[in-house]
Amino acid sequence: MKIVDVEALVLSLPQIRERTDGTQDMLLVRVTTDTGIVGYGEVDSAPIVAKAIIEAPPSHTICRGLKHAVLGEDPFEYEMLWHRMYQSSIYYGRRGAAIQAMSGIDLALWDIMGKSVGMPVYKLLGGGFRHKVRAYASALFGTNLHDTAERVRGYVDRGFTAVKMGWEPMGQDWDYDVDLVRTMREAAGPKVDILIDAGHCYDSKTAIQMASRFREHNIYWLEEPLHPDNLEGYRRLCDHTDVRIAAGEEDSTRASFIELMDRGGIDVVQVDVTRVGGLTEAKKIAYLAADRGLPCINHSFTTDINVAASLHLLASISNAVLLEYCVEDSPLRNELCKDPIQVIDGYASVPQEPGLGVVLDEDVIAKYRVQ
Ligand code: MG
Repeated sequence: MKIVDVEALVLSLPQIRERTDGTQDMLLVRVTTDTGIVGYGEVDSAPIVAKAIIEAPPSHTICRGLKHAVLGEDPFEYEMLWHRMYQSSIYYGRRGAAIQAMSGIDLALWDIMGKSVGMPVYKLLGGGFRHKVRAYASALFGTNLHDTAERVRGYVDRGFTAVKMGWEPMGQDWDYDVDLVRTMREAAGPKVDILIDAGHCYDSKTAIQMASRFREHNIYWLEEPLHPDNLEGYRRLCDHTDVRIAAGEEDSTRASFIELMDRGGIDVVQVDVTRVGGLTEAKKIAYLAADRGLPCINHSFTTDINVAASLHLLASISNAVLLEYCVEDSPLRNELCKDPIQVIDGYASVPQEPGLGVVLDEDVIAKYRVQ
């Protein structure tokens, strides 16, 4: 089997709102083989930047668009292809957008392999640790305390046993930040886990103080309280609190995660399979976390391609404990894939169909495609 085409399609809602909501646009990657099998992947990045990284014509062997590193090759040689893409972007890549773009192609290769042999991807990854994963509802804070409480109650009514909220307006008024957490706890009740995503709004000393204040409301974890480059700050914070500190969604490749774990000392490792280098790299990062006794959780705030690929990852590692499940209301989040992945009684099932197990709605692609 040979790869004959790699396409990068930019999908976007008509209006992009000024908020930290990743469900507003996306880069869809479609890889076609000479057998007629087509695989899909997704990139969570600036879509047009990642599209250029995939499509750029060759300048020379270590400077070329990623598609030129994989055309004509066999998708089953995914490790070799990951390395070729990495080498092909060696001085404009190695982190950030180039690795994010590689993720989309890598996911499509896994989709193709699964479809080719008629097996779900988690089995090819050696999985089977679990067939369903406890999901947490993931959302932005409401527009005020009342709205925040209403949202939390809505997620609990849908069966979620864990709820995360985050980003704006955290960091502007520390007392209000505590009010938000208290509101979540009161709305969720004592038995639901609440998770707080600070959206890197604090410095390390403030984060130590806020972790202590949030702790009174029994939070499950505090996510990204610091800028992702502030590794020494993470180390100070983690040395001074017994609140779990989660991070990783801005990072890519094993090298970055080793820094985050060994220098930063974080407690919960968050990998986004559409950013870290696809499933091929995500599994290695998850193993590095397991070697250090740390849980590995997905980050996902985009489409069901991400959610499905994340479920395959979480099914194939020993140290998964939760699934991030975005509950923001966006047609790209909710309509791109037919038969959306559901959370029932607080759990999402690992897809059992061949490949990633998602079927895309071509009408939705046509409706939102802009490039
Ligand atoms: Mg986050």
